[in-house]
This record gives sequence, C-alpha cells and structure tokens, in this order.
Amino acid sequence: SVQADGPRVTRTIAIANQKGGVGKTTTTINLATALAAVRKRVLVIDLDPQGNASTGFGLPRAKRGLGSYDLLFGSIAVAEASVATEVPGLMLVPASVDLAGAEIELVEAVRREYRLRSALRPGADGYDYILIDCPPSLGLLTLNALTAADAVLVPLQCEFYALEGLSHLIRTIERVRKGFNPALEMQGIVLTMYDRRNNLSDMVARDVRQHLGAKVYETVIPRNVRVSEAPSHGKPVLVYDLASAGAQAYIHLASEMLKREEQRSAA
Ligand code: ADP
Ligand code: MG
Repeated sequence: SVQADGPRVTRTIAIANQKGGVGKTTTTINLATALAAVRKRVLVIDLDPQGNASTGFGLPRAKRGLGSYDLLFGSIAVAEASVATEVPGLMLVPASVDLAGAEIELVEAVRREYRLRSALRPGADGYDYILIDCPPSLGLLTLNALTAADAVLVPLQCEFYALEGLSHLIRTIERVRKGFNPALEMQGIVLTMYDRRNNLSDMVARDVRQHLGAKVYETVIPRNVRVSEAPSHGKPVLVYDLASAGAQAYIHLASEMLKREEQRSAA
C-alpha cells in the first residue's frame, strides 16, 4: 500500500508489556526521539494513567489539557489533543488526570476496543510513526493500543523472570488479531537494562534469543544511570546526555528498527 509519491503511510507501534518497570516508557520516549532525530515525524501517545511519558517529556500535570482520554471519549482530532515537545518533529498526546478512570469507563463504552483506532484514523496523516506507551496491564487501554496499532514492540527487562508473562502477552496479541485487528504484527522484542557485569543478564539475553529468535533486536539497551536520571529533568536521555551509553543504544535501536521496517515494506 506504499506509494512513492502518495500520501505518507503512518506506522503505529504499541510499546507493550503488562509488567511494570521493564522499560516501556523509557523505550517509547527515547526511540521516538531517535526517530525524530533522523527527521521522521513522530507522535507519542501516553496511554498510561501514570503519565510517565508526559512527565518524561517535561510536561507538568498542570499543563496537560486535552490528552489521550479525550481521544478515547471525545470526538476530537489528534491535532487538538497533541502538544509540541522540546524535540523538533516530535509531538505528544499527554495523559491527563481523567485517564485514571478510563479503564472502567471503557467497559461500558460502545465499540470499546476500537476507540483509539477510530480516533487515529482521520488525524494520523502526516506522521511517519505513532508510538503508544501502554500501561502495565492487559486491560482495555492496552487492548485499544493493540487494536489501533500496526505492530507491537515488547521491551523485556534482563532479569530472571523476563520470559514470565510473555506467553500471556502473546495470547493477548493472538486474541486481538482474531477479534479486532487481524493485521497486528509483532514488530520486535528489545532487551532492556542489560548489565554486562552481571552474568545473569547474559544468561537471560541468551535464553530470550533462543526462545524468540529473530524477533529479538540485536541492539540491547544497557542499564545506564543517565537513562534513569533523564526523566527527572523532563528530557529524553538523547537530549539530557547524548554521549551516554543509554542514548547511543536508543540511536542504534532506531536505526535497526528503520532497517527492519524497510525490509518489511520491500517484502
Ligand atoms: P515501564 O514503563 O515499563 O514501567 P520505565 O521505562 O518507566 O518502565 O522504567 C522503569 C524504571 O527503570 C524507571 O525509573 C526508568 O528510569 C528506569 N530505567 C529504564 N530503562 C533504564 C536503563 N536502560 N538504565 C537505567 N534505568 C532505566
Ligand atoms: Mg511506563
């Protein structure tokens, strides 16, 4: 469906894993920034009521007007719900306070799994990538992200229980394919918080590659203190400390992802 001089084709990627603290938000923010740095037009949608992606881009709670809640429940355009970030070419749909009740409100909503998909359809043109930062659950917010997405990117933390819960996530993806979004692809799996001084990290990485093969990105995101400091400054690590190992890893991940995406559209 890609035409050389036709309209831009937007790729929508959900960053999902029902475990908390595995690097979803960090990956969303920094992958988005790395893509914007190579002149891709990028939109981040903060779909986690905790609003960590919004905070991570330096958007204080008081300044969050319309946001992802309004995409789900209001009939507004993406442009109305998005704000500019400090990164050129990177826009953000923040998580406003209302999002805290969304999981429950969605239960009663019509076409409850399709709300985000419907909101993105008319307004998504112009973006090369839309990255959706999912909450740490497999509830209706994540189902909305998976139904709206072309593909899902799964961050896995290099720890002993990395693979635990993954089968549940994969079953959920299957269910979304069957029920709501047959075209949903597994974009990839990225290992995060890798510690090269820790043998366990290595074991986990090897184990994950053995189980999941080519879907696992070559690029591994190291555990890096600059990555964990950046959000408290309201900046992506690429802005906070470009030379850091964490920033460089996300640049690598973006270029590996773009290669994958090219191969995919050539196929
Ligand atoms: P999730 O969105 O999956 O809950 P986060 O991206 O918020 O996970 O990461 C959880 C915590 O780990 C955050 O405090 C974050 O700053 C920190 N963190 C994430 N990735 C790294 C990394 N590569 N190195 C160090 N700290 C990290
Ligand atoms: Mg998060």
